[in-house]
Amino acid sequence: MSSNTDVQLIKNGKRLSGRKLEDLREIKIQPGVLDNADGSCYLEWGNNKVIAAVYGPKEAMPRHTQNPLKAVMNYKYNMAPFSVEDRKRPGPDRRSTEISKISGAALSKVVLLEKFPNMQIDVFVDVLQADAGTRCAALSAASVALADAGIPMTSLIACCAAGKIDNKVVVDLDKPEDNHGQADVPMAVIPRTEEIVLLQMDGHLTADEFKTAMRMAIDGSKKVNEIQIQALKEKYQGELNGD
Ligand code: ADP
Repeated sequence: MSSNTDVQLIKNGKRLSGRKLEDLREIKIQPGVLDNADGSCYLEWGNNKVIAAVYGPKEAMPRHTQNPLKAVMNYKYNMAPFSVEDRKRPGPDRRSTEISKISGAALSKVVLLEKFPNMQIDVFVDVLQADAGTRCAALSAASVALADAGIPMTSLIACCAAGKIDNKVVVDLDKPEDNHGQADVPMAVIPRTEEIVLLQMDGHLTADEFKTAMRMAIDGSKKVNEIQIQALKEKYQGELNGD
């Protein structure tokens, strides 16, 4: 985010990518891409590429981490060194620790953890290519990977960001918009109820702009949810049909 206004991001109502204010980038979702995980999902969102792998539920280790009332949700977000233009230093940092914590908390709202006392569910998401919006891409992929693993949930979680560029509220900021924009608000929702399970904000919005941004992010998340459901249907209906 910057207060820098010397880069014009909207011309004649269109963004630099050609998108309208309410347009998402193209999203492709493929569940079940890894043989050695219990569930997995590869997701492309514009130029973002992420892969999610789920293991478990399995006995929580070390033993002192076990909770006799419910399973422990371990979510690990990681950016590959080659995912960004300047090589990223490998390993965890404050940003990835923060994203892991809030994303795991968001998933804990829908996964039926109390069905699996003393167990753990591990969700690993690796960002292979980053172009802004990776936490939304990662969490949307993780949700599909959990479904692919057959882990009981009350709902999928879908994510989308909204924000402000050139004094206009827009949905799903890409990298130039993230760099030169005025605000970015990533959100995750339970699509059916519109309950918000993750919300962060970088930059500044007025109260009215915030309301518009919330509406746009919820509507964006619902579009993401349709693609998630379609991807799962294609895989599992295909398998039932013997494809
Ligand atoms: P998100 O990817 O969820 O939008 P941020 O707003 O923190 O998260 O990051 C925006 C973008 O900035 C990322 O998608 C990535 O392209 C880039 N970025 C983030 N962290 C780094 C880093 N350590 N090195 C290089 N680029 C980074």
